Amino acid sequence: MRVGFVGLGRMGAHMARNLLAAGHDLTVYDVRPEAVEALVELGATAASSVTGVADGAEFVFTSLPGPDEVTGIWQGEEGLLANMRSSALAIDLSTVGADTSRSVEAEARNRGVRYMDAPVSGGVGGAEAGTLSLMVGGIESDFEEAFPVLSAIGDPDKIYLCGEVGAGSVTKLVNNLIGMTANVVLAEAFSMGVKAGVDASVLFEVVSASSGASATLAQWKTSVLQRNFEPGFMLALGHKDSRLALELAEQLDIPMPVTTQARDRLAAALAEGWGEEAVPVVARLQEREAGVVIDGRESADRS
Ligand code: NAD
Repeated sequence: MRVGFVGLGRMGAHMARNLLAAGHDLTVYDVRPEAVEALVELGATAASSVTGVADGAEFVFTSLPGPDEVTGIWQGEEGLLANMRSSALAIDLSTVGADTSRSVEAEARNRGVRYMDAPVSGGVGGAEAGTLSLMVGGIESDFEEAFPVLSAIGDPDKIYLCGEVGAGSVTKLVNNLIGMTANVVLAEAFSMGVKAGVDASVLFEVVSASSGASATLAQWKTSVLQRNFEPGFMLALGHKDSRLALELAEQLDIPMPVTTQARDRLAAALAEGWGEEAVPVVARLQEREAGVVIDGRESADRS
């Protein structure tokens, strides 16, 4: 298949590489030339602009930071929608609000092209391994048409049609607000346990084997416990997802007291200048206030 891809970041670069590995004829674009160059070395074609990605493609993908970039790249005369061929299928893999997905889809419909939202979960590791879960919003015939191509990016058993356009984005926000809030709660719980005298690595091992286990806790093994906040998933993007979830809740008139507090905590961590570090870095705020460090390394490695 001829596939176009815009946004070769931490997730997109791996997804694009997996599309190439599956034998697709791939054209790529990113504002960072070095990201494009890395894919060209693997066999992709570089487009000099967004419109070059749309040109002739049967599937066009984006993996971009958030709503502003997504609307900017898809919409308008210089955008992907205006320059795609009419039989092509447009698929956004970014995490955005359902309102953004629906507004891009409305323009797609006006221009006679088809659009789906398909945000992903599974982190950079899942993107690299091609085992992401995908949460798709669209119509069934488009989903079925895209499924073989999506299978290069995600685990075929974890590619879900969630409903009409926007439903993928809603599902992704439900998933991520759980993860963002869990990071804040884990920081509280572990700071208490460590200050009360139990080693962080013991807490981790026991909770991981008990009812407090979660996918978010599993990520702490290589982040908070190792004092390594290299992203992964940047705090700035996690804050964006909490904000988008709260915007949706406000539209629906739903109280979200816990998510609101978690969002404020992420905002405070952002204000510390930690936006480009991994989301679990939010634990540092709690550590500072509690006067403990949640350090799970062997005592000889602690500095
Ligand atoms: P990233 O910041 O690493 O990558 C974004 C890429 O988009 C960058 O390469 C950037 O140069 C490019 N870009 C930005 N504006 C552009 C423009 N106008 N034109 C062309 N390229 C542009 O982000 P990421 O971590 O890869 O995340 C991408 C999306 O996937 C986000 O919506 C994020 O919320 C979501 N997501 C990320 C993870 C994760 O673990 N990192 C997991 C699930 C979902």
